[in-house]
Amino acid sequence: MSAELITVGDELLYGQTIDTNAAFIGEKLSEAGIELDFHTTVGDQPDKLLNAIGQAFNRVDIVLTTGGLGPTHDDITKKVICKFFKRQLVFHEDILKKLEKKYASQGMTMPYINQNQALLPQGAKFIDNKIGSALGIIIEDAGKIFVAIPGVPNEMKIMMTEHVIPILERRGSRRVIVHRRIRTIGITESAIYEKVKSTIDEKSAVRIAFLPGLEGVDVRLTVKSDDKEKAKEAIEDTQNQFIKKIGDYIFGYDDDELPVVTGKLLLDKKMTLAVAESCTGGWLGKLLTDIPGSSAYFWGGVIAYTDEIKIKILSVPAIVIERHGAVSIETAKYMAEGVKNLSGASIGMSITGIAGPSGGSPSKPVGLTYIGISTPEGTSAKEYHYGRDRNRNRMRASCSALDMLRRHLLGME
Ligand code: ATP
Ligand code: MG
Repeated sequence: MSAELITVGDELLYGQTIDTNAAFIGEKLSEAGIELDFHTTVGDQPDKLLNAIGQAFNRVDIVLTTGGLGPTHDDITKKVICKFFKRQLVFHEDILKKLEKKYASQGMTMPYINQNQALLPQGAKFIDNKIGSALGIIIEDAGKIFVAIPGVPNEMKIMMTEHVIPILERRGSRRVIVHRRIRTIGITESAIYEKVKSTIDEKSAVRIAFLPGLEGVDVRLTVKSDDKEKAKEAIEDTQNQFIKKIGDYIFGYDDDELPVVTGKLLLDKKMTLAVAESCTGGWLGKLLTDIPGSSAYFWGGVIAYTDEIKIKILSVPAIVIERHGAVSIETAKYMAEGVKNLSGASIGMSITGIAGPSGGSPSKPVGLTYIGISTPEGTSAKEYHYGRDRNRNRMRASCSALDMLRRHLLGME
């Protein structure tokens, strides 16, 4: 079964609202083995929506819309549905009573305009809205299915997972789509390709996509098949090839996150971490403290932005900064050692760099960053070169630090 999603709303076209509904629905349909062939976005104009629904029905079996189901004049979806399917809007006393009750239970009287919510297309099935007021609408016509759900993301999500997907799954074929995300860091997209290209079989059922992000490059493996077990096997085979070729760069799979993976390694080894951050200003600490329970292994950190705090709190010798600069391998090492001694943690890490956009020089360009690590075995630091964008540089430096720690804890170098 093929599907098309139509998201409705001027705000989506103006770029004021990011179309997160499309991302969520795409993921859910794919998990259910339903092929989403098209995604269309239209504004709040009835003729354009009518056109889009007509076009969708010409090319797919399932048409879903989100948005425009509310009671106000700019909510046009219901009227357009009636026009397209040549049906009347019918008033439902029971739905109105339920709505009034819902308002009353929250100590409010229902605004008059919400009476519109009880007007629904003739002969349709409805999906209850647990948290909002607009009902979802399902119409089956000429062997095809039409589903309209509200645009409010939370309402959409509940209706999709609790009602729409189960209904579509019951009628669908047994085709499955299996995905695997291989999460890498410290290697570029083209370098991954160079290393794995000899193993890539163009005729294989496994489709491979490279998705570079701020943290690193994700490799997405996808198989569509009628046999779930076979699909999983094919994915595992390809995954094993990748592990052979780029295993050191893989920090996890699917929903794994680098800070969580690294934090778990610290916990397993019963080690603790303290950080000294200059150009990242606490970003690394934020990534670590985003994880509940991280106090079991994360001591905390020092935001050592100026030379003064590096000298006073982290005991970096003034002469080192004078000679080599605050952004140098030497300073990074002293910072890591300094925060380790100050905290008593088993590992100290440091980040010092030129985040930009200004402050660079020919010998120390914007993006140059040093990351230090001090462990019971010794202290070292490494040089990194990022781009020109301040925030990207700060994020990437924080991730590189986590990766350096991950590699150390796994005994990789
Ligand atoms: P309601 O009954 O609450 O009015 P509705 O179906 O009329 O629901 P809209 O008015 O179109 O929904 O949108 C409600 C909110 O949901 C708006 O803030 C809108 O920006 C947001 N929204 C709508 N569509 C999307 C989408 N595709 N992705 C993310 N947010 C969306
Ligand atoms: Mg809208």
